[in-house]
Amino acid sequence: MRSPTRYRRRVATVSSDLLRTQAYVGGQWIDADDGRSFPVVNPSTRETIADVPRLGAAETRRAVEAADQALPAWRAWSAKERAAVLRRLASLAAEREGELATLMVLEQGKPMAEARTEVAYALSFYEWFAEEAKRLDGAIVPSPWPDKRILVTREPVGVTAGITPWNFPSAMVTRKSAPALAVGCTMVLKPAEQTPLSALALAALAAEAGVPPGVFSVVTGDATDAPVIGAELTSNPRVRKLGFTGSTEVGKLLMRQCAEQVMKVSLELGGNAPFIVFDDADLEVAVTAAMVCKFRNSGQTCISANRMLVQEGIYDDFLARLTDAVGRLEVGDGFAEGVQVGPLIDEPAVTKVEAHVGDALELGAEVVTGNGRIDGQFYSPSILVDVTPEMRMSREETFGPVAAIARFATEDEAVRIANATPYGLAAYYMTTDLGRTWRVGEALEYGILGVNTGLISTEVAPFGGVKESGIGREGSSYGTDDWTELKYWAVGGLAPAH
Ligand code: ADP
Repeated sequence: MRSPTRYRRRVATVSSDLLRTQAYVGGQWIDADDGRSFPVVNPSTRETIADVPRLGAAETRRAVEAADQALPAWRAWSAKERAAVLRRLASLAAEREGELATLMVLEQGKPMAEARTEVAYALSFYEWFAEEAKRLDGAIVPSPWPDKRILVTREPVGVTAGITPWNFPSAMVTRKSAPALAVGCTMVLKPAEQTPLSALALAALAAEAGVPPGVFSVVTGDATDAPVIGAELTSNPRVRKLGFTGSTEVGKLLMRQCAEQVMKVSLELGGNAPFIVFDDADLEVAVTAAMVCKFRNSGQTCISANRMLVQEGIYDDFLARLTDAVGRLEVGDGFAEGVQVGPLIDEPAVTKVEAHVGDALELGAEVVTGNGRIDGQFYSPSILVDVTPEMRMSREETFGPVAAIARFATEDEAVRIANATPYGLAAYYMTTDLGRTWRVGEALEYGILGVNTGLISTEVAPFGGVKESGIGREGSSYGTDDWTELKYWAVGGLAPAH
């Protein structure tokens, strides 16, 4: 673990223009009306990095008003002008990549290499949607009436709200705000209480890039403020859409709140990803994929493999190789050289992993490798075998570095187990059989498939789930759909002149 002195030196490498400890509302850096703040804590050392304002309904309402006032001018900018600002923002983020990654490691704990990858992924949404917004075309539809023409145009939905989680502190912010801003919407964003600093740094860069005041605001608050801020964002009639990434439970709550004023929603919620290894899989490919999609971000992603299903014929070989790879994982502070697995985000996260493992062991699972909690919020990368569907780790997201493995016999059985969940975000399967590739892919009830790969996130592809994993897609050429409305024009009066 790092000493406090080295830690303070690390904070000092982030310039004051990016280490923001005030909320950003209507182009102003503000404190809470009542001056209250909450600590942002480094999950690795449990030290306080900064104190950030606890905003409430009044400040959130002002952010919405500012977004509403900024809307007419922003949507009137040409797509090309908005694109130029977003491209500038992407360049600034690329120039400051080291500092953004440092902030992320400080507040989220992930290893530096992963933080850098996330910054690159985050800014790719600014680049991508800067271009996509220029292609927001409509349609001219053949008219059934000789004296009328039919047109379809696309418009920004208006003032929008974003609520984001802590596991990807930058990328979830840009995956929502980039398409919104690109098409001419304005946005009030509430980042997760664990990781507000990355969002505030992006707000600072947005201002520097030329995003006008009010177009993008960031309202901060702690866990008890979140429902208050969320209630304002979902009940304020000026807000026309909410984009949320987080738990299914909170997603359902927000969807109910949005229903009151029939507000558009896009929701990226929990997953329960199956990772199926068939007998015909390439073992090396399968183990590499399993390592990436189970242990990246300490297993704290909504597309992390949650249930590993391994066919009988390949079971022993796969388990031996995976055990070897897991045993070599380096756990530690995200800034330390060579570290691959950082701490879990907070104490409840560690307690949840412990509870899942405890429940599985009680019901008959066995630990192949792993020693539970190491120290503080660090959890030892683990493999459990003989995991059955009734165990908590099969039914809920464990969100930790624990691989839960079960054996299966037939393809039908694997597909049946994989689909036996209310979730449907990502599914992975490893096979070299072409027929099986298509059969299984078509049978899996999931929004995203990783076939012979554990790495699926890219700005060019549509990210999102089915069933209780959500509504809508983020990224890709489909990613502007959720931030625009169609307008149909019936243009009459074209009868020939007499
Ligand atoms: P996680 O379990 O990953 O922390 P949550 O769904 O609890 O996921 O949190 C995701 C985001 O939703 C965070 O920004 C959090 O503050 C916010 N949030 C949690 N509860 C509410 C709520 N009742 N209303 C609005 N936002 C909320």
